[in-house]
Amino acid sequence: TYDIHVIGGGLAGSEAAWQLARRGFSVRLSEMRGGGGSTDAHQTDGLAELVCSNSFRSDDDTSNAVGLLHHEMRECDSLVMRAAAEAQVPAGSALAVDRDVFSAHVEKALADLPNVTIVREKIDVLPDAGMTIVATGPLTAASLASSIGAATGAEALAFFDAIAPIVHRDTVDMDICWMASRWDKGDGKDYINCPMNKEQYVAFRQGLLDGEKTEFKEWEANTPYFEGCMPIEVMAARGEDTLRFGPMKPVGLDNPHAATPEFPNGRWPYAVVQLRQDNKLGTLWNMVGFQTKLKHGAQKELFRTIPGLEKAEFARLGGLHRNTFLNSPILLDRQLRLKSAPHIRFAGQITGCEGYVESSAVGLMAGMMAAAEMAGRQWTSPPRTTAMGALLSHITGDAEADSYQPMNVNFGLFPMPDEAVKKKDRKRAYTERGKRDMQHWLSETKAAEPA
Ligand code: FAD
Repeated sequence: TYDIHVIGGGLAGSEAAWQLARRGFSVRLSEMRGGGGSTDAHQTDGLAELVCSNSFRSDDDTSNAVGLLHHEMRECDSLVMRAAAEAQVPAGSALAVDRDVFSAHVEKALADLPNVTIVREKIDVLPDAGMTIVATGPLTAASLASSIGAATGAEALAFFDAIAPIVHRDTVDMDICWMASRWDKGDGKDYINCPMNKEQYVAFRQGLLDGEKTEFKEWEANTPYFEGCMPIEVMAARGEDTLRFGPMKPVGLDNPHAATPEFPNGRWPYAVVQLRQDNKLGTLWNMVGFQTKLKHGAQKELFRTIPGLEKAEFARLGGLHRNTFLNSPILLDRQLRLKSAPHIRFAGQITGCEGYVESSAVGLMAGMMAAAEMAGRQWTSPPRTTAMGALLSHITGDAEADSYQPMNVNFGLFPMPDEAVKKKDRKRAYTERGKRDMQHWLSETKAAEPA
């Protein structure tokens, strides 16, 4: 018998098990690798295997959101951060690790805890009772994925992401772009519109065709993904005007900046790129219909040729990958529990966060939340001015459910610092505020926990 069942011994599941066991709860940690299951990306049976890069990205906690997340996780005694310190290799200001040393450290730390039982087994159905954390990742086994689909509604579980780039609102040039809905429907201000003339459009389409693309991995290419999420460059290749009849349709969008005495309301652009609000704070806007396999460098270069986006900073660049994830903003409550079956929590990339560090951080919070719940303690989430709190708020309700796609941590998820803070000082303001608020939250959280 055990207090809680953690399914998936990847980054999030290992971190959640650690947080629970260190608080005195007994954990069954089920990992299918080594127990008859595997994924197309994992190569070993080790817990917390890093499937691709060996980097946890920037370790700069004074001006970088993921660096701030590292800091906060260390403050919360994260196993992933401990193991990363043990396995660190030189990588400038980034935190990179020897992946085998890292995985071995995570596994040993858990195996050494008397109240963690690591079981090599594949779980095929969601348990119908008992406290559970599901952390089976972007490549969740098909049997369990269909059980999750049955519990959540199939349309709320995606098997492919279709990521359109996201722009920080304060980097859009509103002297060129303007707010409007097509034919002024809605409240008339739902979209940011970036206008193009014919020459700009033709050059832009050519850029999409010529830009360097990322190839699908062989196992991804066999998964059908096309319905409703065709890459923008594939659409561009269909014909010169296909985009103008699709996501770049200019119809009903009257550009006020182009007003002349002859045309007092402005004039119709030849094509338009539309941005739609992506979070409740209004700091992030996604490029509608711009999911793409263009390489990240090529995306930045090309998308900055769009009028009004010359100085755009991207909170996320586009992509398409095999990726199992939930529409968490509608399915999960603020404590990562499935609203329809609250004994089940989700953690890690399956909640729609993106990245090793983010997945681990969500595992860490899921572990802390479950521990509080089992102890009968009230749980208060970290404030949204912290990296952990910002990520959690986004996943559990602040993101727009309609366009929900995996997201790395970034300052666009945080409330803006005081208006008086100059632009060049903003990053430092975010990190200083985050650290201060994390310290305060953690001291209150710890004070409520038994020694
Ligand atoms: P995982 O680490 O994948 O852990 C899930 C675990 O659950 C796995 O060990 C799996 O074997 C197990 N499991 C699945 N189904 C079952 C089941 N039914 N029963 C029991 N166990 C099960 N992020 C980055 O930051 N950098 C990168 O370079 C990067 N590259 C990526 C490359 C690929 C191909 C993919 C798919 C993702 C990549 N990611 C990357 C994104 C993501 O951050 C990682 O996948 C990360 O490992 C997610 O952590 P997790 O704990 O949610 O899932």
